[in-house]
Amino acid sequence: MSNRFDVVIVGAGPAGSSAAFYLAHAGVKVLLLDKADFPRDKTCGDGLVPRALPILAEMGVVDAVTSRGCKLDHLQVSAPSGRSVHFDIPRLPHAPNHALVIPRLELDNLLLQRAIESGVDFRGGVHVRALQTESDGVTVYANESYRAALVIVATGANTALLSSIGMNPPKPNIVAARAYFEGIEALPPYFQFRFDGVVLPGYGWVFPLSASSANIGAGFIRTGKREHHQSAQTAFNSFIHSPVLKSMLGGATQVGSLRSFPIRTDFASAPTFTERTLLVGEAAGLVNPLTGDGIDFALESGKIAAEHVLHMLRLGDISRSQLQAYDTILRQRYQNLFRFSQRVSHMALNRRALDWLVPLAAARPKLPEALVNILLGAKPAPEHLSFLRIVKGVAARL
Ligand SMILES: Cc1cc2nc3c(=O)[nH]c(=O)nc-3n(C[C@H](O)[C@H](O)[C@H](O)COP(=O)(O)OP(=O)(O)OC[C@H]3O[C@@H](n4cnc5c(N)ncnc54)[C@H](O)[C@@H]3O)c2cc1C
Repeated sequence: MSNRFDVVIVGAGPAGSSAAFYLAHAGVKVLLLDKADFPRDKTCGDGLVPRALPILAEMGVVDAVTSRGCKLDHLQVSAPSGRSVHFDIPRLPHAPNHALVIPRLELDNLLLQRAIESGVDFRGGVHVRALQTESDGVTVYANESYRAALVIVATGANTALLSSIGMNPPKPNIVAARAYFEGIEALPPYFQFRFDGVVLPGYGWVFPLSASSANIGAGFIRTGKREHHQSAQTAFNSFIHSPVLKSMLGGATQVGSLRSFPIRTDFASAPTFTERTLLVGEAAGLVNPLTGDGIDFALESGKIAAEHVLHMLRLGDISRSQLQAYDTILRQRYQNLFRFSQRVSHMALNRRALDWLVPLAAARPKLPEALVNILLGAKPAPEHLSFLRIVKGVAARL
């Protein structure tokens, strides 16, 4: 079997499978490697926001995902005080106005199988330890070595490979833990983002998978002060013992173990390329710093990288200026949104702000609507305007 490819992709999560699908679809010889054998689980809230759905449709898996997932069109946000605001998921220009919850064990396997059907050579159980760039290509070192013109790194929040090639990404700034529960008697049929009973700055979630089962979890942002005292597990335990969760989970059973994983949300300052190498998805820090959604950005950046690689291969130009152009495309698309989400996260994820904002949002529906439209990509994020000025502006006009 030849070990020479046009492109090697490391990591077969949503970012790697999406990049592999689009490249193979265009006739590129692609090798997709993952250290796990599939199907494999990925610790996640399993929520798919509407902006993830157009790519699933293009890949031809949206019907399979929708039929296996739980469709939701409404969400609730609860303040530390317990006060809540409810709203519908807004309509995006090219996406349905609903979201889905589907276990990653299933979603990632559907995406991978689709990539394989489109011609991708997938090899599981292959742990990539190093990459070496030469003037005419890259060598990928695992159990054996592979050679390509270019590599796409899609290794998620696991930064070991990036560190080994000197990219030194920052330590993931959020840690989160989740467990599955069954037999929940009064499970509301909508997304719940909860700030009552959680470690702040942080959040808890209840994402229904059916009428009586859910993915429940909690995460917190490492501020530097607290990280030596807190773990994702303790944040999770504090959340599920909060009064609302305790009552909701009264007759329920936890299925499987509690699992935790870090989250990287540092795209705004993260590197996205090095010689003959592009980074996609969470390897480029592409998880929203406020909401924690990253599957949508993983799918989108996989497609963007594939299109740019095709362009470079056609030109026969993998120079630094071409790699830099990929970074520019990502910045044009996401930089404002990530900076805005960071600002909101810094200002709003504390008890005082949340206890003020949630009742304000309940009384002024245009406020959460404006924020969710920006976060879900329906409206552009303001470049400079501070979050506080937006809140004051919306509140004054209503
Ligand atoms: C607790 C938690 C809850 C979350 N909830 C949500 C949510 O509800 N909705 C949402 O949109 N996002 C959520 N996220 C974020 C989301 O999980 C990630 O953004 C998403 O998985 C990123 O996709 P990816 O393809 O970039 O990386 P991943 O899905 O992490 O895939 C990376 C792949 O690379 C492989 N890999 C890593 N290193 C190597 C190596 N050296 N060699 C070979 N293979 C390697 C891994 O095995 C893995 O399969 C959550 C994250 C966490 C931790």
